Formats: sequence, structure tokens, C-alpha cells
Amino acid sequence: AAPFAVTSIAQPHPAAVAVRLRPAVEILDLHKSFGQVEVLSGVNLSASAGEVVSMIGSSGSGKSTFLRCINMLEQPNGGRIIVDGEEIRMKKTADGRSHPADMRQVERIRARVGMVFQSFNLWPHLTVLENIIEAPVHVLKERREESVEYAHALLKKVGLSDKHAQYPGQLSGGQQQRAAIARTLAMRPKVILLDEPTSALDPELVGEVLRVIRQLAEEGNTMILVTHEMQFAREVSHKILFLHRGKVEEEGAPAELFANPRSERLRQFLARTL
Ligand code: ADP
Ligand code: MG
Repeated sequence: AAPFAVTSIAQPHPAAVAVRLRPAVEILDLHKSFGQVEVLSGVNLSASAGEVVSMIGSSGSGKSTFLRCINMLEQPNGGRIIVDGEEIRMKKTADGRSHPADMRQVERIRARVGMVFQSFNLWPHLTVLENIIEAPVHVLKERREESVEYAHALLKKVGLSDKHAQYPGQLSGGQQQRAAIARTLAMRPKVILLDEPTSALDPELVGEVLRVIRQLAEEGNTMILVTHEMQFAREVSHKILFLHRGKVEEEGAPAELFANPRSERLRQFLARTL
């Protein structure tokens, strides 16, 4: 069944065809150092609307740092970040460090970039429903009733309709991560970043979260997914990037990249993980 799934999803989403000339996300020559250590050394990534781009690579290769730079949880030292056609304006200080020129612009762009973390990061003192409507009400200034209505639709989508009044601590890890995905969707993001969304889950709970992510892919959401679930990445991604020591060592269509890895490092990585 897997090869069929690959081809059925690998078709560009109609929305992607329409906006080919304007990628949903474009990252050019991204550099990031911590102190003297450069952890990203010129990473490029472009995702059209409706595309799923997965990043794979060993622990410490810079995957999380890369995602965190896209929504400016980390400030890159160089490079360009363009989300939904808007470039984050940067300025350099005398010591050569770069900073966002306009934090209001960063806030505005960040609101269009959803992030799903390995550790869910739900507010423990808020119910599932309250978690989901928090940002739409306070950041997007949506009417509360409108946010609540959309939250219920999203809870239905992720299979948690009956959990809206529960607190995160009352849910399983898989349920918490599905609630976190619903919370991300509530902001109607232009792109969703997922950083190892199933890594913290017990094995029997991984499938329920992957099913939701697969559905999001099929619905044409633009996503950048960091994952160790190789088979899943292969099935849902339009493109896969293999990161090695802060550089894109190899990239390509999933079937090709997995079947014929050109780089020896990717070959070794796949041998260890598959
Ligand atoms: P990955 O997600 O691929 O495992 P990370 O992006 O988390 O990799 O980390 C890349 C490298 O950057 C690692 O060597 C890590 O130790 C280092 N690093 C990440 N965050 C910080 C930080 N806040 N301060 C210093 N070093 C960091
Ligand atoms: Mg990581």
C-alpha cells in the first residue's frame, strides 16, 4: 500500500500550482552560531503552498535550530527568511550580529507560522478548549464565540471532541499532541513546523498522531517536518532534506533519496535508522 500512498500525495496540491512563483516559505543561506560554534552553515529550503518538506539527520545536526530560526525563536546570524512572501527585515549591529529590524514584523510573521513541539507545550492550567482559543482570541483578536466554534471543529478533526473540557494532564501523550496540533491550526498558519512531533510518545501512541499529520498533508497544508519516522516521511513528503553538521548534505524526492542516496553520509544514516 505504501507506494500508492506516495504517489497519491506526491502530486502537487492545486493550491501549490497556483502560487508556484511565490513559495509559502523560503529560507536562503541561513547561518546560526552559538558562541564560536556554527550549527547552521548556509541552509536553503523552499516550500511551495501545499508542500510537505521533511528534514532528517542525526541528533545535533541542527534540525531544531533551523525550525526555531524560521519563527525567530532563535535569531540567525545571517541569511534570509521569507514567509508568505514577506521577508523578515534584519539589521546588523557593530559587532556583526544580526537582529530583526522590527519586532512587530516578527510578531506578525510568527503568527502565520505554526509550531508543534516534541513536548506538546500545552498550558497545564488551561483546558484543551482554552488552550486552543488562547492565541486566536488574544493574538488574532477573534471573537470568542468564533474561536470556540472553530476550536470544536478542529477537535473533531483531530479526534478529541469529547476532551474539550479536560486539562492536558488528564490526557495521554498522543491526545496531548493532537490537542497541540489543533491549537496550532486554530491560528490558521501559512506554514506548520513540526519538530519530532512523535518522539516523546510511547510507541503505541505514535500512529494516532501520524494519522492526523497525514490528514493535514492530504488537505494541502504547507509543512516542514523534522522526524525520525523514515517510512512516514517517505510517504507524506514532497521533498526530503538530509541535514548533516548544519548543511544540507542531500535533498530530493523521497523515493529517489531513499532508494539511491548519493552521499555516503546519508547512506550510513539510512543504514542506522531504517
Ligand atoms: P537537532 O535538532 O538536529 O538534534 P539542534 O538544532 O538541537 O540539533 O542542535 C544543533 C547543535 O546546536 C547541537 O550541537 C546543540 O548542542 C547546539 N545547540 C542547540 N541549541 C543551543 C543553545 N541554545 N546554545 C548552545 N548550543 C546549542
Ligand atoms: Mg532536535
